[in-house]
Amino acid sequence: NPSLRQHMQRLAAEGIDVVRVTYPDLIGVDRARDVLLDHLPSACDHGLAFCRAVYHTSPQGEVVPVSGGLDAGLPDITVRPDLDSLVPLPWEPGVVSCLADATDPATSLPAPESPRDLLRSVLARCAEHGLRPVVGPELEYFLCDEDPASPSGWKRYAGTTGAVYTAGLRADGDNHLLRTLRLLRDMNIGVTSGNHEFDGGQFEINLTHSEALSAADRAFRFKSAIKELARKEGKLATFMAKPFNGAGGSGFHLHLSCESADEEGAGNAFDDPTGPYGLSATARHAVAGLLTHAPALAALANPTVNSYKRFGPDTLAPWLIDWGLDNRSAMVRIPPERGSGARLELRLGDASANPYLLIAGTIAAALLGVTAGEEPPAPLEGYGYDTARAAELPMSLPAALDALEADTELTEVLGKDFTASFLSYKRNETERFQRHVTDWEFTEYAYHL
Ligand code: GLU
Ligand code: MG
Ligand code: MG
Repeated sequence: NPSLRQHMQRLAAEGIDVVRVTYPDLIGVDRARDVLLDHLPSACDHGLAFCRAVYHTSPQGEVVPVSGGLDAGLPDITVRPDLDSLVPLPWEPGVVSCLADATDPATSLPAPESPRDLLRSVLARCAEHGLRPVVGPELEYFLCDEDPASPSGWKRYAGTTGAVYTAGLRADGDNHLLRTLRLLRDMNIGVTSGNHEFDGGQFEINLTHSEALSAADRAFRFKSAIKELARKEGKLATFMAKPFNGAGGSGFHLHLSCESADEEGAGNAFDDPTGPYGLSATARHAVAGLLTHAPALAALANPTVNSYKRFGPDTLAPWLIDWGLDNRSAMVRIPPERGSGARLELRLGDASANPYLLIAGTIAAALLGVTAGEEPPAPLEGYGYDTARAAELPMSLPAALDALEADTELTEVLGKDFTASFLSYKRNETERFQRHVTDWEFTEYAYHL
């Protein structure tokens, strides 16, 4: 890998004078510092100090009481730039983006809540079992225009008729998708294609599949970039799970397969032309693990109080804990390709999920199924929203958090410290929401009761 001096020379020659050092917080918000290029060597030698409260601060700026944060007097974490992760920000001349890792200043070990390190630890477990997960993320989002008349200040993007898979101006009057796709290509984060989704103002952009940490890094950067590009156009891009009544939600589907980590080029460990449905035992066990741990996994895949409004029958978002062969009404879909393309698609996650936690949790659940040799029930046939056939997902964030706490097999893989911080943070969120009076309550109750 190039040395710091080589990086400095290249960046200066390219006219770069600022490095945006970014890392994911607990809930996947991008936290960053813009560092002048001249200061990069010092940032690499000593790290950059951030208040640890960054892991415990809500998007609205409320510091949430989590052990090791407020109660410890808001100590520092040290953030270390990862120079191998430099990518251009094509819409911001002179600036490059650099990912970073958060460490504890006293020990130089990863900070306990660091989502990148959580994923690394889950991947290390896979490697112990000779498995190297391959992940392809698909994210949906809504684009919004400013609207002073609406209570939120925003309304769904007006330049659209909402026709799914319609390209060009009929579905996207401002050509948002085309412009965005090209800028993302120039950012080098492995974007492949984009399309208009089912609902007006909703888009999906796909990322190429890769080793899991790179997939999480790219999904994380993708979300930041989409939000930033929308702001540049005076719009808002939201990855909220279900931002509007009367429209579907935004999913964060994950395609997952596995290579054998031992022998280079050993092929796809999910493919077996002689197995049932052309799938290997490893693939079946992975599906079973996802079904078994789905209620707990929902806490990571569907991490907001809003997430649970996306689920339901006839939504193309799941509702029941099931799997099916090329069946979009199931929680786990097995796409039709086999051979090197044999994989599963977990449709559980919504776009608000922290990509690192969704990917780490998914791989952990699949791995538990593999190590236990679990077998899934028969796959769903037909359009399946029949509660007599399969159990429902948790229908609220508190229920999913309780399921996570109760799933000691999964929390053992995720780690005690991470789980405790995540549960405290998210339970605080649900308590704040429970105390908050919503517009719906006023409309429903104020006049006639
Ligand atoms: N928007 C749906 C979801 O929330 C997915 C639609 C699709 O299959 O593209 O998961
Ligand atoms: Mg889609
Ligand atoms: Mg999909």
